[in-house]
Amino acid sequence: MSVFKDARGQHVNSYYAATIGDAPEYPTLHEDIEAQVCIVGGGFAGMSAAIELAENGVKVVLLEAVKMGWAASGRNGGQIIGDWRYGYDQLQKQFGTDTAKMFATFSEEGKNIIYDRAQKFNIDPDFKKGYLAVAMNKSHTAHFDDYLAQAEKWNYPHKRRIISQQDIKQYVNSEAYIGGVLDEGNGHFHPLKMAIGEARAAASLGVRIFEHSPVIKIEGGDEPTVATAHGKVKAKQVIIAGNCYLEKAAPALEKKIMPAGTYVIATEPLGEARAQSLIPQGQAVCDMRHILDYFRITKDQRLLFGGKTIYSGKDPKDIGKVMFKDMLKVFPQLAGVKIDYAWGGHIDLAVNRMPHMGEYQENVTFVQGFSGHGVVATHIAGRVLAEKAMGNSERFNVWNQIKHHTFPGGTLLRKPGYLAGSSLFYMRDKWDALKG
Ligand SMILES: Cc1cc2nc3c(=O)[nH]c(=O)nc-3n(C[C@H](O)[C@H](O)[C@H](O)COP(=O)(O)OP(=O)(O)OC[C@H]3O[C@@H](n4cnc5c(N)ncnc54)[C@H](O)[C@@H]3O)c2cc1C
Repeated sequence: MSVFKDARGQHVNSYYAATIGDAPEYPTLHEDIEAQVCIVGGGFAGMSAAIELAENGVKVVLLEAVKMGWAASGRNGGQIIGDWRYGYDQLQKQFGTDTAKMFATFSEEGKNIIYDRAQKFNIDPDFKKGYLAVAMNKSHTAHFDDYLAQAEKWNYPHKRRIISQQDIKQYVNSEAYIGGVLDEGNGHFHPLKMAIGEARAAASLGVRIFEHSPVIKIEGGDEPTVATAHGKVKAKQVIIAGNCYLEKAAPALEKKIMPAGTYVIATEPLGEARAQSLIPQGQAVCDMRHILDYFRITKDQRLLFGGKTIYSGKDPKDIGKVMFKDMLKVFPQLAGVKIDYAWGGHIDLAVNRMPHMGEYQENVTFVQGFSGHGVVATHIAGRVLAEKAMGNSERFNVWNQIKHHTFPGGTLLRKPGYLAGSSLFYMRDKWDALKG
């Protein structure tokens, strides 16, 4: 696939890749081998499944097309955010109270996997607790009471509180916001440090990792096989966790998601005082629009600012310039600051924006569709897929109840259709802004 060839076996040039130190190299698959479980994809979802399985004594092979953490898992905004696109009330209404409770548990469990695993395997990914969802207009603040009520109703175990218009600048020093909801249970981290740490952890547990090994064919059955150009893996079970890069390796999955580009910049180091003047308490911040900005301060005091959602498949010609303009709308005081890194990545949007888990073929399962909100969700999804591979389908079946539609028009026409849809989101954001 050309996107893998274009990568030239390297992580993208990002702030993250520049600050991970040494990343181990794993070999390319050049032979036919066997495993109990073969995993396709070395992002958070695939690695999480691999670690769970290996911790339970299962022999695992993981095939990654480029490098561990090469795609979304190693490029994202680093925001560790729980919850789902469907609210728990909606899940309760559609699937019953037990399912709603299960998803509330998944969310917290996903976060705990990240923190527990970092501690257990000595991974230091610059964790910082605290998250702020900021409002730009009244249609956003109208949801505040509901956030608090939902947290109470579904026993959210962390503090969540409203920040008034009067106080918001103590948290984000910008004229763009009129309030927010502070959540002490979410936070942020350096995702590529986490990904590299998890790859090391998996390898230390005996997982055989192969990089630079794009999978070209997956065949389910009694003994499913996974083929790359230079070797094959025969397994008892296969788990597919390839985000939006699988294409012909799993064509039926492609129709259920829409790849979209989102982009990030990192400023030069601002120094502690200046960085603190922007986000005085250092939380991760997201605004509440459909097409939103997300930002945070890094350990070395840069502003890392992300946003945009582009469906055309074409990245902006100059990501740094486009994102700098957006950053100045929030922090005009940063005019003149140098941008050291600019990069982008793809998110796998599902029609309903819920992660999609299911059975692809006999003895082959998959997860995809994290829809730009996958740092926590991938970690719990990996665990649930591992449970299924080890013969316990209970939580898999709960997840699998959520129905997923194919994008209208399939892979050919989904883009024009979605472009129309995204213009609608854009117009809704504009309309909310106009109403004030
Ligand atoms: C710029 C950006 C910002 C984001 N910000 C946030 C955020 O702040 N918070 C949040 O919660 N989420 C965020 N997300 C979303 C989040 O990063 C993803 O949902 C999550 O990392 C997806 O993990 P994954 O394991 O499913 O996929 P990926 O990390 O994309 O990994 C899939 C892997 O599979 C491999 N692969 C695919 N096809 C094949 C094949 N045929 N053979 C072998 N290997 C294959 C790919 O090379 C890739 O490494 C962001 C995403 C992007 C792109």
